[in-house]
Amino acid sequence: MALSLPRTPSLRLDGKTALVVGASSGIGLGAAVALAEAGARVTLAARSNDKLNEAIEAFRLQGYAADAIALDVADVASTEEIVSSSGPFNILVNSAGLARHGPAIETRAEDFDAVVSINLRGAYFLTRAVAKGLISAGKPGSLINISSQMAHVGGIDRAVYSATKHAVEGFTKSMAIEWGQYGIRVNTICPTFIRTPLTEQTFSNPERVKWMMDKIKIGRIGQVEDVMGAVTYLASDAAGMITGTALRVDGGWTAS
Ligand code: NAP
Repeated sequence: MALSLPRTPSLRLDGKTALVVGASSGIGLGAAVALAEAGARVTLAARSNDKLNEAIEAFRLQGYAADAIALDVADVASTEEIVSSSGPFNILVNSAGLARHGPAIETRAEDFDAVVSINLRGAYFLTRAVAKGLISAGKPGSLINISSQMAHVGGIDRAVYSATKHAVEGFTKSMAIEWGQYGIRVNTICPTFIRTPLTEQTFSNPERVKWMMDKIKIGRIGQVEDVMGAVTYLASDAAGMITGTALRVDGGWTAS
C-alpha cells in the first residue's frame, strides 16, 4: 500500500467574511487585497468615505467581492455597534494606526492620549467586538492586529508608539488564551518600515533612512507586498495552531 502523504492545509479563504480596518491605504489596503485574492468577501473600513470609495471602485474593477463602511476606532461605542450590525466576520485585520513621533522628553499629554486611543484602546475594543460577534454566532475566526517591530524593541522618538504596540502584544496573548476554546485565534503581524503615507515623514529624513538600512538585514526597505502573504497565512486554516503570537515581517531588524 502506498504511503499516505499529509496534505498542506488550504490557504484559500472562500466563503469567509473579513473586516479590514484601515483598508483605504498602505498595509491595510494590501491586507484587504490579499484576503480578497484568496477568496474572502471583504468589508473595507476607515474614517474617510472618499478614500474608501476609491478603494472599492478599484476592488470592483478587479472583480473582488467587497463593500465598505466608515468607522473610527477611537469611537468605541459606534465601532461596536457597526461591527455588531454588519458582522459576524470570520477574519479581522486591524491596520488603523497613528504615529506622533518625537523625543520622549517632549511628549505632550494630548499626543500620548491620541496615539493610545487609536493604537491600543481602539484596537482592543475592535478586536473584542469582532470576537463577541463570533462567540454569539458559535463561529471560529482569525483576528489579526497590525502591530510593529516596535512592539519588540524601542526606537528613537518612538516611546509612545512603541509602548502602544508592546501593549497590543499583551492583549493579543491574553485574548488568545481566553478565546482558544471558541476556535478564535488572535495574533499580530509586526512589520519593519514599510513605505506608506504614515511613514512619508520618516523617509524624508536621510539619518533615519540610514538607521533603517543599518538595521534591516535583508538590505532593503519593506513594501506593502511583504506583509500580504503573512495576512493570508494567519487568516487561513494553514495557521490553525497559531495563536497568541507575533509574526515579525521585519527583515531581521529584531534579530540583533
Ligand atoms: P496608512 O497608510 O496611514 O493607513 C492607515 C489606514 O488606517 C488608513 O486607511 C486610514 O484611513 C485608517 N485609519 C486611521 N485612523 C483610523 C481610525 N481612527 N479609525 C479607522 N481607520 C483609521 O498607515 P500604514 O503605514 O499602512 O500603517 C498601518 C498600520 O501598520 C498602523 O497600525 C501602523 O502602526 C502599522 N505599521 C506601519 C509600519 C510602516 O512602516 N508603515 C510599520 C509597522 C507597523 P482614514 O484616515 O480615512 O481613517
